[in-house]
Amino acid sequence: MHNEKKTVLLVAMPFAGVTIPSIQLAVLEGYCRQRGITIETRHLYLKAAEIYGLQDYHSLIYPPNDSYTAQMVFSRYIFPEHWEKNQERFWEYFQQHSSQNPGLPPFTFEEYVYRTDTLYQWILDHVDWRSFDIIGFTLNYGQLLPSLAVAKKIKELAPEKTIVFGGSRTVGTLGVNVLRAFDYVDCIVSGDGEEALYLLASNHEPYKSISRLIYRNKEKVLWNKSDAVVDLNTLPIPSYDHFYQELASTSNHIQQYYQYYGRLPVEISRGCWWNQCTFCNLNIQHPCYREKSTSRILQEIRWLSERYRMMDFQLIGNTLPKTEYRSLFEKLKNLGRDFSFFVEARAGQLTSEDYTFMKEAGFTMIQTGIESFSQNYLRKMNKGVRVIDNIVALKFCKENGIKNNYNLLVRYPNEEPVDFEETKKIAHQLKAYLDAPQLCELRVMHGSHIQRHPKQFNIEQLQYSPIDVIMYPLDYLEKGFVFVYNFKQKNQTGDYPWESLVEEWKKEQETIQLEHKSQQTSIDHLIFYFVDGGNFIKIYDKRDRQNIKIFVLNELERKVFLSCVDIISFKELQRRFLDVPEFELTAILQSFEQNGLVYVEDDYYLCLPLRCRVKSVQEKKEECLVNISP
Ligand code: SF4
Repeated sequence: MHNEKKTVLLVAMPFAGVTIPSIQLAVLEGYCRQRGITIETRHLYLKAAEIYGLQDYHSLIYPPNDSYTAQMVFSRYIFPEHWEKNQERFWEYFQQHSSQNPGLPPFTFEEYVYRTDTLYQWILDHVDWRSFDIIGFTLNYGQLLPSLAVAKKIKELAPEKTIVFGGSRTVGTLGVNVLRAFDYVDCIVSGDGEEALYLLASNHEPYKSISRLIYRNKEKVLWNKSDAVVDLNTLPIPSYDHFYQELASTSNHIQQYYQYYGRLPVEISRGCWWNQCTFCNLNIQHPCYREKSTSRILQEIRWLSERYRMMDFQLIGNTLPKTEYRSLFEKLKNLGRDFSFFVEARAGQLTSEDYTFMKEAGFTMIQTGIESFSQNYLRKMNKGVRVIDNIVALKFCKENGIKNNYNLLVRYPNEEPVDFEETKKIAHQLKAYLDAPQLCELRVMHGSHIQRHPKQFNIEQLQYSPIDVIMYPLDYLEKGFVFVYNFKQKNQTGDYPWESLVEEWKKEQETIQLEHKSQQTSIDHLIFYFVDGGNFIKIYDKRDRQNIKIFVLNELERKVFLSCVDIISFKELQRRFLDVPEFELTAILQSFEQNGLVYVEDDYYLCLPLRCRVKSVQEKKEECLVNISP
């Protein structure tokens, strides 16, 4: 072991979104700096957005494109001969997939190549990589080719530099194969990167004692596998100083865009406590689930807000904390600041009161892992939730004014008619009053259950995706670092009109919003809702505008209906209404079901209309006290 420390430059290349700094860079920077390492970070995707122009950068990375396809032109710096031979195919792919904004000058392929060249040259000329010993790249979905391109050039110009990769795109065997394929990459950190990067910068030797490192030893590539994980509560608060410096050096347009739409990431967990969805590979990097304590999360939010004058945060984790989520909402609410939060959540976890807590804490947008409204499909996905859990998540979001940006995941290789029919039926019930989904076609991701067990899903053969075949020479693709696959089905399945289903839903929502513009009161904006009269309830159902219905429930019906605001089993209803004979309870529930007022799944009930006025958590508590006082 030598004592002299090395200096580190960490880079996040395009094509990340510009609304959020890289959490990986900020965490690694904080960790290494606390231990005396000289470290700088560069968020170069900000410069990329400036060079391409924000509008065109977004058209490259958002649907129908994505950050994976956006990297294609960087192929020319890594495989120049391949590029020369295949330019026509790159051009054709771009033409087929480029979405032009009407009214704006078209972003041509020639312009795309020219601006990529400009960016590439700008990075080589302006980033002070010569001052650092270790140049590290964080690699997510669309960052492999841009990182390889710059790493290759640096190594050509200064072979003494150590090039390190890390991130989900080079985890485990992917990393081993990337190292075998590209000799200008010196080593890769697989999984938690903090300690390995620190040891590399500390000149720690031998490499075989650095956990999680993938490195070369003579002709061999070795991987120091390790189950040890970092305790998130012991990490220093991430530093975004360099991100803000980078931002300040970009155009006013990008700065303004970030100030308006940007969010600061706050890591709340790594991995996923469920970790069983068959399509998901989000946890290949962190198979072991860990979360930060709520008090630590709060401390970070307060500190980051004060340091960067920021009020908008994205909680980074695949799900909410497993058990401590309510205490997190409560503590955030008690801070009494006008924060806004975005988080990803699982359905089947939160109650109506939790959603109200969330709203009061400042959650304005969430993404629930809905994926489907078909029981059959959810089983294939092994989501561990029911359709009823998905509906309740959307219902409570709508009631509380929390926008839910959820996806409908379709085109599994073993899709069946029932998957479409079940979804269509539910969509018909929900489309007039609950937010529409985004459509997301299945892509078989490296490390997912489907990729590892293709035969279980009617896959005869996994194939390279068309964009990979264009971006990489075939002999490189065969080196085993493919991240996304296409597939050939064993038995062909039908093709279902998912696009029109979602379009219809979106259209319905747009029509309703247009109609609302001319309406005076906020209650007119509600489509399917109830008002509580104390010993009766009125339900207004305007889902079918040609056939508006109003239901008035009597005292007993009201009580049963209110018991179904959160999902409840028939058994539990029986327990709550001991004095009501079973036949009477059943008759009430049947009439609710026949009139489309409740959704029923396996003897579980959920009322569908929205509350016209959501009570605050405080009001609910007071109501509870009144009800139990003698
Ligand atoms: S999709 Fe979400 S809930 Fe499912 S395993 Fe992946 S991270 Fe976990």
